[in-house]
Order: sequence, then structure tokens, then C-alpha cells
Amino acid sequence: FIKKDLDVDLLFYNLRKGDISALSKAITLVESTAGGDSAFAKALLKKSLPHSGKSFRLGITGVPGVGKSTFIEALGIQLITADKKVAVLAIDPSSSQSRGSILGDKTRMEELVKSDKAFIRPSPAGATLGGVARKTREAIILCEAAGYDFIIVETVGVGQSETAVHSMTDFFLLLKLAGAGDDLQGIKRGIMEMADAIVINKADGDNESAAQRARREFQNAVHMLPVKSHQFLVRAFTCSAINSSGIEDIHEHLTDFESQTKESHHFQKRREQQELYWFHQTIEDRLKSDFYHKTDVVSRIKNLEQQILKREITAFDAADAILKQS
Ligand code: GDP
Repeated sequence: FIKKDLDVDLLFYNLRKGDISALSKAITLVESTAGGDSAFAKALLKKSLPHSGKSFRLGITGVPGVGKSTFIEALGIQLITADKKVAVLAIDPSSSQSRGSILGDKTRMEELVKSDKAFIRPSPAGATLGGVARKTREAIILCEAAGYDFIIVETVGVGQSETAVHSMTDFFLLLKLAGAGDDLQGIKRGIMEMADAIVINKADGDNESAAQRARREFQNAVHMLPVKSHQFLVRAFTCSAINSSGIEDIHEHLTDFESQTKESHHFQKRREQQELYWFHQTIEDRLKSDFYHKTDVVSRIKNLEQQILKREITAFDAADAILKQS
């Protein structure tokens, strides 16, 4: 999409100035799959990298309708008032089919959209979670280089997308509702272990006491879990995103978390582990996709499957054969 004579230095200069359209253009460049763009994208990321890493990265997950957009709007406005620059990104590997269900409708963050201290970007399209996650990680680097000091990465619980967001954020927040089968029993395995805090949203009107009950239930459940490496107590909160009530407490908790984990060096350690995780994950993804893209691999696998089922070859010998041949 971008011209052959793109001036990366100029784009980078404008990005560093905090120019929103330069940031948009930069992210579009890293998202682009057009052949010529990837060299520009690499050059831009290389320049941006030394200026990245200084933000607080918050991950947010929850089922559709739980109130993620409303929550991000409420928290975002508080952050902006506290003089932060806020970028909102999203990971939704299904968005290429559903045409950007997540964050597609920016009007849900009406106030935030209007602010020049906020940048909101819908989920990149992509066939694989790995691809979508990579683009989002690169977008984080660009946003940080553009001076955004609070990055929110939103996801719905599709496939492994929660693991991906957890692996690129400093704090992972799980939004829940009271009742409606969305209680402790209904929670996806593994999510409780990932969450750094649980927020019961829509604690308003008739729902208020049920939300308080759910909060207590979650708080008790959290005590049964192994202590996190950062040693920071996983807390359960209630809030009403629509009324902006309870948001201040959560904001304060995030600030405390940041300062305490920075002091104990767990903040930095988590970032380092994440970098190495993505390094190894990318190697694995690449090896796998390179392998399956080789000529005839798929048809040869089909053949070997038949031979295995007919007991003509063991599964291990078949695997050896295909790995050696290709
Ligand atoms: P998302 O799909 O998770 O992003 O959820 P939305 O933010 O779009 O919210 C879904 C619906 O719930 C919308 O109609 C919101 O107005 C409503 N909603 C969000 N937060 C609250 C809340 O705190 N209280 C109540 N009563 N409704 C809310």
C-alpha cells in the first residue's frame, strides 16, 4: 500500500513528535503483508525499539457484552485526566471473518475517541493468532515510541488469545459479571491463574448485591491459587463502568502494582520472560509453518497416516521418515 519511496526517517520523526496520523501510518505499515513494505516496517521498528518499553501495559479480557469498551472508556478518561497518553489496541483473531467485531465500533468509546491524548486501534486482521499477536506487539512498540505511556490491550476469550495478551502485558485484568452462569464454575480453566485482578462489572441497580457476593466468592477462590511470582495479591473488585464508579480504586491498584513490582524488580523480570517467550514462540511457529509449506508434505502425511492405520509402519518411524525427507 505504501509508496516505494517511503521516507522512513521522516515517518519516524513525525511518530516521535506524537503525530497521530504518523502513528496510524506506521502501524498500517507493520500490519501490511505487501512484499515491499516489510523492509520499511523492520527499519521503523528498529528505530523505535530503543524508545519503547516505558509504558504500563494493561491487558483486559472478558466475554462480549461484559462491558470492556465501557470500562476502557471510563478508565481511559481517568488516565487522561491524570495526564497520561492512552493507546487502546485489540487482539481478535476472529476479526478477519467477523469484520472487526472488537473495537470495530469506536462510538462505544465516545469520549476517548475525541481526546487527542488517546489512540484507539481495532484488531489487525490475520489468519492466525500468532500473526495477529505479533502485529499487536509491534504496535505496542510504535505506540510507546510515539509517547503513549499507558497501553491497553483488549481481547475476547477466543482460543488462545488470552494467553497471547497475558504474554504481552504487565497486568492482566479479567472482567466478569455476577450470575448469569458466568460464575466461578463457568470460568475457563487457566484464566484464573493468569488474572492479576478480577473485576465484577455492572455492579449497579438491582445487580449491586449480587455483584458484591460474586466479588467475595472470587476473592475467596483466589486465595486457593498458588501465589504469583510477583507476590502481589490478586484482588477482586466491583465496578459500574457505565457510572464510572469503582474505577478509581482499580486505577489506584494498578499504580500501586506498578510501583511495587518495579521496586521488587518483578516488573522487569516479567517483561524479560515475555521477550524470551515470544522469541521461542516465533521460532516454533516459523519451523512449523515452514515445514507444512514444503512441497508434498501434506499429501505425504496423508499417505503415512494410512500406512500407520494399516499397521505397515509405526507412528514414530513415519514421523522420522517425513522429517528426514523434507
Ligand atoms: P464489550 O462487548 O465487553 O465491549 O461490552 P460493552 O462495553 O459494549 O457493553 C455492553 C453493554 O453493557 C452496553 O449496552 C453497555 O452500555 C452495558 N454496560 C457496560 N458497562 C455497564 C455497567 O457498568 N452497568 C450497566 N448497567 N451496563 C453496562
